[in-house]
Formats: sequence, C-alpha cells, structure tokens
Amino acid sequence: MIHAIETSRLTKAYAGKTALDGLDLCIEPGEIFGFLGPNGAGKSTAIRLLLDLIRPTSGSARILGIDCHHQSPEARALTGYLPGDLRLWPGLRGHETIDLIASLRTRPIDPTYVHNLADRLTIDLNMRTRSYSKGNRQKLGIILALLDRPPVLLLDEPTSGLDPLVQRIVWEILGERAAVGTAVFFSSHVMSEVDQVCDRVGILRAGRLVAVEPVSALKGRSIRHVEVSFDGPVPPPEAVRLPGIRELRRDFATLEFEVSGEVDPLLKALGPYHVVDLRTEQPTLDEVLLGYYQEAGR
Ligand code: ADP
Repeated sequence: MIHAIETSRLTKAYAGKTALDGLDLCIEPGEIFGFLGPNGAGKSTAIRLLLDLIRPTSGSARILGIDCHHQSPEARALTGYLPGDLRLWPGLRGHETIDLIASLRTRPIDPTYVHNLADRLTIDLNMRTRSYSKGNRQKLGIILALLDRPPVLLLDEPTSGLDPLVQRIVWEILGERAAVGTAVFFSSHVMSEVDQVCDRVGILRAGRLVAVEPVSALKGRSIRHVEVSFDGPVPPPEAVRLPGIRELRRDFATLEFEVSGEVDPLLKALGPYHVVDLRTEQPTLDEVLLGYYQEAGR
C-alpha cells in the first residue's frame, strides 16, 4: 500500500544541533493527522523537509511513494502547503494572488470550488492583501493550500489567528477533503482544537516523537481523579488495592482515587458495595499533552 506521507528515520541538525531526530511516520490517504508539540519541538522542520525547502541530515521522506528530496517537483505537485510564516504579495488583490498561484500549479483548478471556499471563509478577494487582517491573510493562505485539491495537505498551524467560528469552518472544510481521500497533516501547539477533528496525533518533544495514537487512546491512558461515595463505611484498603489505582483520601463514606488508564477494574472491585455517587474528573487534553512533555523530559 502506498502511504500518503511516509518518513523514515528523518533527521535534521542545524549547525550540529538536532532539531528533528529519526522521525518515523506513516499517514494514510483520508487521514487527518495532528502533529503536536511545544514551540521549538521540530514541527516546522518536519514540514519543511517534506517540501524539500530544507535538506535532511539523514533519513528520507515520501509523499504518495515519491521521494520528497530526489523527486521534489513531483512530490510538491501533489502537496498543498500552508506555511507558518505566510508571506503574500502586498500589492496583489486576493483573487490576483489566487490566479498567480493557480498558474504555478499543474493540477486543474475548479473556479466554483474556489469561490465556494472564499464564501464559506468569508473573505473579500477584491481587496489588496496589504490591507488584509491577520485572519484574512490566514484564510487566503488556506485557500491557496487547497486551491487545486491536492491529495496531501501540509498545514503549519492552520487555525492560528482565526476566530473560533472560522476555525470551525476550516475544520469542516478539512474534514470534507479527508472524506474524499485527502491526507491532512497539520501542526499545532494546542491540543484542545484537535480533539474533534483528528484521527491520530503525533506528539513531538525536542525533535523526538514521544507518542502516536488516536486522541481517544491518549485520553484513555491519562490520569484522572475518581471520588466515590458509599451509603455506609467505605471498603477496606485491600479491596481497592489494584494496579494503576492509587488511593488519595479515605473518609467514613467517601474514597478518592487517582486512576491511570481505564476505570473498569475499580468499578468491578466496587461491585459488592453500595455506591451512592461517583464523580470522575478527566484532565483536559492540554493537561494530557503537558503530561507527555514532562514524562518525556524525565
Ligand atoms: P516548531 O515548528 O515545533 O516550533 P521548529 O521546527 O521551527 O519548531 O524548530 C525546531 C528547532 O530547530 C528549534 O530549536 C529551532 O530553534 C531550530 N531551528 C529551526 N530552524 C532553524 C534554522 N534555520 N537554523 C538554526 N536552527 C533552526
């Protein structure tokens, strides 16, 4: 099977300092993949290597089976790119910018599709880009990346500078592209926004991939607090001594635990007791992400 994006031990060092360290990734057509990490983790470096804007120190990358470095024009023709530091031609109007980029692409452009994108993102393409707000510049950048409906999208922080309503529209549009087989690879430093949209996430820390999994698995493996109230004395400590479960507090009728992973073993252990209330508090995705950074740093 040909992967949409495949990297093999992809490594980049700048002046001897490793920015990306042996990245191995496979992303399939139709998949939305969130590439997460704090600033400086190496996300943009990975995206720039995929576009052959910089050369790897070692390792390789392929887009739909085509080598990103040795066959870069062919690989780029299959790729739509939104840079993190988008630069536009200030004197050109939105639609002139679109025409310019369209003339450089090899795949056919459907004007109806482009107008539909502009309508949904609510951007006036008659204005010169110098008078665009940050949000409008980002909207135009998104249209340019999606212009010729490429099978692979590489988007560096696509929702940055957009208000929540427009962010939702962007995710909707990207979801539609994925539904017709486009692989969407985007970077982000906030996790909350990827919750609804991603199939999988990769977490990068200091150039190293520390996890690749579905968002649900990340959440499932995180630590949560569970407080249980009983209609009488609490179970003895040995009844709730279980792997992955730590007792935090014990009152006459209340127990509080820290649970890593599923709560099922705890619920089974509580089966013989009369539980009147159970409250669980799940960490936010950003807390989960922070946990990964800290764990990997130890
Ligand atoms: P991210 O996109 O996750 O914020 P980057 O890929 O931009 O991270 O940067 C990863 C590391 O590589 C950082 O330490 C950054 O300072 C360094 N770096 C990035 N580009 C260059 C460059 N052109 N020259 C030297 N160091 C660089």
